[in-house]
Amino acid sequence: MTATDVSGARDATFVAGMRRRLVRMRRDLTNESTAEGRELATPASERGEDTTPSQHPADVASELEAREFVLTRRLIVARELQDVEEALVRIEMGTYGVCVDCGGPIAAERLEARPQAARDVECLRRARLGQKGR
Ligand SMILES: [Zn+2]
Repeated sequence: MTATDVSGARDATFVAGMRRRLVRMRRDLTNESTAEGRELATPASERGEDTTPSQHPADVASELEAREFVLTRRLIVARELQDVEEALVRIEMGTYGVCVDCGGPIAAERLEARPQAARDVECLRRARLGQKGR
């Protein structure tokens, strides 16, 4: 431990562990988004489903619901993936674990729970409030 370590910079072992977790998360998220993208891009006719116009309304509704669910899920996955990518960039730049808003250190427990966290709890709450009504 050095006296100059006041920037909120993390020790190498901690960051290396987080980096491993982030790389794994990126791989999982990438897999998930490609799998879902394929399913969404495939028309029902090619999935071997009945596509006659006389389809029962309930089937149409559930098909729509399923598509909506997939789209929502894709949006979440895309956002998560972006957060993970950005966290990996911060590791490369040596600013990992430092809040992107106030420059203060992010609590280690928070990073353990969410390795891609870009803000401490205070700034996260403020950022969420700022997004309201957008
Ligand atoms: Zn902050």
